[in-house]
Amino acid sequence: MTMLTRFAPSPTGELHLGHAYSAVLAHEAARAAGGSFLLRIDDIDGSRSREEFVDASLADLAWLGLDWDGDPVRQSSRLGDYAAALDRLRHQGLVYPCFCTRADIAASLSAPHGPSGALYPGTCRNLPESTRARRMAVEAHCWRLDAARAVGRTGALRWEEVGHGVRIADPLAHGDIVLARKDAPASYHLASTLDDADMGVSHVIRGADLIASTDVHRLLQALLDLPTPLYRHHALVCGRDGKRLAKRDAAASLASLRAAGIDGRALAADLGAGRLPTGYSLQNP
Ligand code: GLU
Repeated sequence: MTMLTRFAPSPTGELHLGHAYSAVLAHEAARAAGGSFLLRIDDIDGSRSREEFVDASLADLAWLGLDWDGDPVRQSSRLGDYAAALDRLRHQGLVYPCFCTRADIAASLSAPHGPSGALYPGTCRNLPESTRARRMAVEAHCWRLDAARAVGRTGALRWEEVGHGVRIADPLAHGDIVLARKDAPASYHLASTLDDADMGVSHVIRGADLIASTDVHRLLQALLDLPTPLYRHHALVCGRDGKRLAKRDAAASLASLRAAGIDGRALAADLGAGRLPTGYSLQNP
């Protein structure tokens, strides 16, 4: 198998040391295996994505000395593919329109919590067809996956976590996740799963903060007949406070390190060897 890895920044802010670490690992793995390293711009969220952050991300990667193969893939150019996949799930009776607002969901006392917050209480899951049709004509709605029904179709699912063996996916822990949002034609889960398959990604290398998402990605792969890549969820870069870096940590932004005269290629070599600048550390959540 030819190794194909990717780095997939969302252009909603500046890249920081955590992004650099992820990009370096994915780039290094591909190059060491004589494979390919692709770049994907996760700009599905039109209201938050900004072109200046796309340009800045490409400049940061070049400064780190990381080259990528082919043109960057833009999620905003793949909306038709996401819509087609959603249609397929709709025809299988596995998704339903949901009219609830955030406030409706928060007000539901019974909502238990999953890996990414409150689980959807299922209010719109079994609405009669006629009600759905009437409300869809006039109300904003998202599309949710009927997780229990979907898991009933696929049975147990697993993935291989490189270096750690087989992991059992637990998609039910996430409840009925959103696959297409009111304000965006696909959710992160749907877009990312389809893109990784269509790009031919063999190894998904990303931060350990996304390991729980893999539960959902495995389910979507099974429902949409997509191949399952190998996964490597790496430790997260944390700052002096021991918390993982966020886009607001300006001091760790690659732009500020570059402005401070740091050599990007030397930094990339250090990150690849697990050596972080003073004050930063790698931690597993
Ligand atoms: N665009 C996502 C992020 O910046 C990464 C998606 C992924 O690696 O699956 O968090």
